[in-house]
Amino acid sequence: MTLAFDPAKLTLPVRHHIGGQYVPAREEIAVTAPSSGVTLGAVPRADASVVDRAVEAARTALQTSGWGRAAPRDRLRALHRWADLLEEEAPALARLEAVCSSRPVSDTVAGDIPVTAEQIRFFAEFADKECDALAPTAEGSLGMITSEPHGVVGAITPWNFPISMAGWKLGPALAAGNAVVLKPSEMTPFSALYMAELSVRAGLPAGLINVVLGDGPDTGTAITGHPGIDKISFTGSTRAGAAIMENVARTGIKPMTLELGGKSPMIVFEDADLDLAAECLERGILPNAGQFCVAGSRMIVARGVADALAERLTERFNRHEPAATWDAQSGFCPIISEVQLGRIDSLVRAACEQGAEALCGAARFDREGSYYQPTILANPTPDNPAVTEEIFGPVATFQTFETEEEAIAMAAHPTYGLCSGIFTRDLARALRVSRQIEAGTVWINRYGRSRDHILPTGGWKASGLGKDLGREAYTANRRTKSVLAAI
Ligand code: NAD
Repeated sequence: MTLAFDPAKLTLPVRHHIGGQYVPAREEIAVTAPSSGVTLGAVPRADASVVDRAVEAARTALQTSGWGRAAPRDRLRALHRWADLLEEEAPALARLEAVCSSRPVSDTVAGDIPVTAEQIRFFAEFADKECDALAPTAEGSLGMITSEPHGVVGAITPWNFPISMAGWKLGPALAAGNAVVLKPSEMTPFSALYMAELSVRAGLPAGLINVVLGDGPDTGTAITGHPGIDKISFTGSTRAGAAIMENVARTGIKPMTLELGGKSPMIVFEDADLDLAAECLERGILPNAGQFCVAGSRMIVARGVADALAERLTERFNRHEPAATWDAQSGFCPIISEVQLGRIDSLVRAACEQGAEALCGAARFDREGSYYQPTILANPTPDNPAVTEEIFGPVATFQTFETEEEAIAMAAHPTYGLCSGIFTRDLARALRVSRQIEAGTVWINRYGRSRDHILPTGGWKASGLGKDLGREAYTANRRTKSVLAAI
């Protein structure tokens, strides 16, 4: 079966999904296919009244279904049915994803969808296995630390992995007994709507997942400032994360999880397996054309092996051929928009003007659509914008070092601390360096997440607050209560 499709022939849902039904609204925000530059249509922009309606639907669903109070195993079973249906419907879901995003349709079917389904199952398992605690109090009293769902979670997701990011929010929130009002990115709205539709078909209470469409300043702000939203779960830029904190501080304090930007280093020591390092460094920056939060966008390489590694990397980077996200054979991914491509190009130009040397790329591909060539910028100074700014494209800097201390100092970023990679055959050194890296994740002799969903992911410093995945993501979706009884 080929998954290739004609984007002009795809029927797109362009309505909000509230209370288990599609709700028509005026179409306002243009959605464009990055693979071709063709405008696909326009989606509505939910205002405060639409968000009100979604929050009301969520609260009603919680009350009438008893989702958060019923036997936890019932939640588990319903979530498993939904995960199964997501996989069964993978071809349709993947087309809705690929038409407007940077995700190739076949990669989505092979990766994003099954992994998301498995993560939903993973979180469902917490529902009837995660126990509350008895506290060691003095004789004559019984102390319990119990937990309860927050109520309605407001989730806001980015465009770079729309299905996966929606799954990261919905899985733990629902398993923990909450309802959700989800706003996907205005650039990639379609797959989240179909996920909500499938949840109702799988037997989840209508209104448990509500999807409202719109942009950040209007719809996003209406969600984060809504008094009926009990917790915020956000993934996106550090700039938007800061705006959300400000809005929450102004409109009413509520807990929040923020997964934000990064500028992650990959350090290659002289004793590293260079073939492995070249493969991992390429995989650390080029998937999804570098548009992923944990992208290893700063290569920091021991001077003794720098020339050999640069040669291998340049050869690998020059091999990539772009393809439309709807082609049967997946290829190098497009940049999400012309605006984003322009930003990447101007940062690369500024980096070169300030002394960086382009070993490859540094230009768009000469074809239709928004495609940028894999780019390595060698020997930038520490204050070069390519070293300091999150570029969110297929662009990595290449810096060299002499000593371990120098490598650690170069790896530190003044604001970001999302993750990092270390390549060496010396395990003692790897562990010693990993303790000195200021980041939420360290990968040793590999780069990128595995399918071990128990490992939490999230940033230090301006890269975020709280965690997605892991037990932390589940517990963040419940609030604890200390109960002390005299006995
Ligand atoms: P973005 O911040 O522009 O938008 C993300 C989402 O937030 C969108 O739905 C947008 O409409 C909404 N939004 C924007 N401003 C808002 C506001 N003031 N209030 C409420 N909502 C608002 O980010 P993007 O360009 O879609 O995604 C790229 C960014 O996301 C990068 O910085 C990347 O590093 C980050 N990201 C982080 C992780 C992680 O796990 N740390 C994962 C994926 C992406």
